[in-house]
Amino acid sequence: MRSFKLDKKIDSLIKIWQKRNIAGFYCANKESGIDKILEIIPLSASVGFSGSISLEQLGVVRLLESRGNKVFSPYKTGISREEGLELRRQGAQADYYLASANAISEKGELVFFSAFGNRTSGVSYAKNVIIVCGINKLAQTIDEALKRAREYAAPLNCKRLNWESPCFKDGICRKEICFFPEYKRMCCQILIIEAEVTADRLKVILVEENLGF
Ligand code: SF4
Repeated sequence: MRSFKLDKKIDSLIKIWQKRNIAGFYCANKESGIDKILEIIPLSASVGFSGSISLEQLGVVRLLESRGNKVFSPYKTGISREEGLELRRQGAQADYYLASANAISEKGELVFFSAFGNRTSGVSYAKNVIIVCGINKLAQTIDEALKRAREYAAPLNCKRLNWESPCFKDGICRKEICFFPEYKRMCCQILIIEAEVTADRLKVILVEENLGF
């Protein structure tokens, strides 16, 4: 059951996003989150996405592909680095772009870290963007959201992807030494979305479950 505090937090976020020209949707669980995504994206639309445990847990990319949407998937096995980069570029130009944020502040600011830049470019400039996030991504302030993204999410992603960064082994960020060629830096770009110009371009689906990290 939703606590009163969480209830208020979610309602307030959706109202704040309205003011910021961002459409917010509350979904009680993963299943309704999946349904919402499938409802928003037309069958004829092409879809790009960024690597995300939240999206993997929803299995929504597979569902879109199996119902006939054209999906640009840079994470398929057996493709070259160049092919993967090209699919990332094409994905960021698709009709719809799917991603998850690393953190969301109580004021509705959305924080994204990116290594190659496909996530930051897709989220900031694709024609239509759907951000799906579990409530575990909520942070109080923008500083805490940035801290969550850098000190919690990024090290776990480095571990998950065998990414040879200073945080890879012990989970501690050492951004001051995290540069090539000694280290492979994952946090190369940081995007904070504070508001949106184009009405209806950016949608956030907030799922009341933990998704990703
Ligand atoms: S800046 Fe480097 S060390 Fe810090 S979290 Fe990102 S990848 Fe890890």
